[in-house]
Amino acid sequence: MKKVLLLSIISFIALTIRAQTKLTISTIDQKVKALVAQMTLEEKVGQMTQISIEMLLKTENGKLLEPRQLDMDKLATCIKKYKVGSLLNVGGTAQTTENWQALIQAVQKMALQERLKIPVLYGIDAIRGNNYTLKTVLFPQQIAQAASFNPEVSRETRASFIPWTFSPVLDLGRQPMWPRIYETFGEDPYLGMQMGLATINGFQGNNPTVEDKYHVLACLKHYMGYSNPLSGHDRTPAWIPEREMREYFLPQFAAAVKAGAKTVMVNSSEINGVPVHASHHILTDILKGELNFQGFVVSDWQDIQYLYLRHRVAKDDKEAVAIAVNAGIDMSMVPTDYTFTEDLLADVKDGKVSMARINDAVSRILKVKYQSGIFDNPIGNASDYPDVNSAAHDKVNYDAAAECITLLKNTNNLLPLAAGKKLLVTGPTANTMRSLNGSWSRSWQGDNSNETEKDKNTILEAIQNVFGKSKVDYSEGVAFDKAVNIEETVDKATRADVIVLCLGEDSYTETPGNIGDLTISAPQIALATALAKTGKPIVLVLAEGRPRIISAIEPGTTAVLHTYILGNEGGNVVADALIGKINPSGRLPYTYPRSTNSLINYYRKYTENKDVNDEAAGYDPQWEFGFGMSYTTFKYSNLKLSSNKLPEKGNITATVEVTNTGKVTGKESVLFYVSDLVASITPEFKRLRAFEKIELRPNQTKTVTFTINKEKLSFINYDLKRVTEPGEFKLAIGDLSRNFQY
Ligand code: BGC
Repeated sequence: MKKVLLLSIISFIALTIRAQTKLTISTIDQKVKALVAQMTLEEKVGQMTQISIEMLLKTENGKLLEPRQLDMDKLATCIKKYKVGSLLNVGGTAQTTENWQALIQAVQKMALQERLKIPVLYGIDAIRGNNYTLKTVLFPQQIAQAASFNPEVSRETRASFIPWTFSPVLDLGRQPMWPRIYETFGEDPYLGMQMGLATINGFQGNNPTVEDKYHVLACLKHYMGYSNPLSGHDRTPAWIPEREMREYFLPQFAAAVKAGAKTVMVNSSEINGVPVHASHHILTDILKGELNFQGFVVSDWQDIQYLYLRHRVAKDDKEAVAIAVNAGIDMSMVPTDYTFTEDLLADVKDGKVSMARINDAVSRILKVKYQSGIFDNPIGNASDYPDVNSAAHDKVNYDAAAECITLLKNTNNLLPLAAGKKLLVTGPTANTMRSLNGSWSRSWQGDNSNETEKDKNTILEAIQNVFGKSKVDYSEGVAFDKAVNIEETVDKATRADVIVLCLGEDSYTETPGNIGDLTISAPQIALATALAKTGKPIVLVLAEGRPRIISAIEPGTTAVLHTYILGNEGGNVVADALIGKINPSGRLPYTYPRSTNSLINYYRKYTENKDVNDEAAGYDPQWEFGFGMSYTTFKYSNLKLSSNKLPEKGNITATVEVTNTGKVTGKESVLFYVSDLVASITPEFKRLRAFEKIELRPNQTKTVTFTINKEKLSFINYDLKRVTEPGEFKLAIGDLSRNFQY
């Protein structure tokens, strides 16, 4: 794993060389203070402004040039007139490494000609690899990384690029309709926290400053509650009582802040009727106060303007700017005009925003700029990154994706398939890179993956490579939204030994990904139903960003492989899993629902449980959170507690033996759940409190140890305090359990 990690210090592009001199926090604070003392109000407000690069690019007949080129007059307006401190984005489509270098160099050159020589901080959505640069690795999306239950995998996504990445997403993925659930680490707060911490560690390294050329600033998003719209539609209201917010949505952010994350991006939506961009309580009281966050807070795209354009809590831009800055926003992702800069200047002059607030915001931004090392080395050095677009990086990506793929059904051990079988590959996700990569793939919606990733294998191409072209027939069957050739496909199926049915979704994110029905699309149900009638074994391969309901067709399948959005190696990983070169070891990071109106998370209350409530109301998903099979079998035995009474101070340890009782080597994620049997707030049925992934050869046994302490049994009570109440608890691992007292 170590070697893999070293390889994965992905340093694709030298846009920035990090400071080699180790600046300590206190010397940085002194430098910031000295700099702020010299700044005019205009310079300060400029630092708080972030502009999208589209604004600064050359156009011809209204179209952006390819490759993208800076319009030096527009750049001068941005840097010299408005003194803008930060830029973002990509201008539509991904660029080559060389073009990025040229763009950033030109920007920094102009910024450094200004009197205070403050470099521009460039930020980008490098959320699963450096996805806006051509030919870089496209890793599995976060939801798939979470399925690996292996934080090491997540660390492998570190991307050294522009010094600032808008990642990781720490939103809790518990609303399966939401079109960004695949950008999260799933529905469990503990899993999300562990994966998030590993990602931040990978991005920023262990140091308090991000000073070397292989690390980048992380950005925690979208603080907080963005993932929980009641309607399931992006950027629509959430209703989250403060207690629930602190129990489920806040802990990941709190842990990440404690781990030193440098920036935070804000939830675009509203909670309990208050847009988060206007919430002093969430941004200042909790984040900067309680959590003692020392970095800076950036708005999301245009969200200060949306305070009046959409949310209607401000009458105009000037009022919106004052509300947002006073609530605690330090930098505005404006992003395509200079209204923020102009209106903030006016707000300060009118006494609507204090100089103290401006100085605080600017100091935070400058501090992070120093920590990123861009003051010392604003321009990168390409020769520092020889591994970009290398086979070594593809191998890291393949290994990561191999840990994510999840086997959900395998009747009569249909899988792995023996070589020599005649296969029919069909379905709308079989021969497209879009479903494997999803959005944030060279473009926002990932809609040109088939062109940009044409040298990578689709599921069909990889299966042809592995099983031999002559053994693999293909028929599209249906598109996502219409039938294509179902009859012909059924006819071909009758001549195959096994059908590999590839269903799921096209790429999408944010509002374009909104759906009115979680059920998989009707043409896909029609294809699956027609194929099931042939009586041939069907391996259903799901390539989708959210758990689309398949209860109508699941009974007609023999095996099911869930691939989530596996990235550029996804095709190869599916083919290798089908033939048994990869033994699947992923587990579901969310509940896979059975019906559209029963979207219950696994940490349900007892009244949502089948044995308490009637069947229709109870938790009865297609597959539970944490479910995942293997080509081997594991036996859990000898679950022991060091004591059956947890002392007030100290801990007890639980040990369990896990044995590989099958015939092939396999990896097993050992999940450790605790249930509080009686509590003052209705307790959850169970909560994941620890996990560990181990690898076992046939007949090998390993002992896994967990430590239980008071903290692991705690919850937020009615008075919003974290408490552990005395009483009886149940620990469950696999099919074993033990009760103990606290
Ligand atoms: C998204 C963010 C993203 C930002 C910049 C917004 O629309 O919500 O996740 O970081 O755009 O591209």
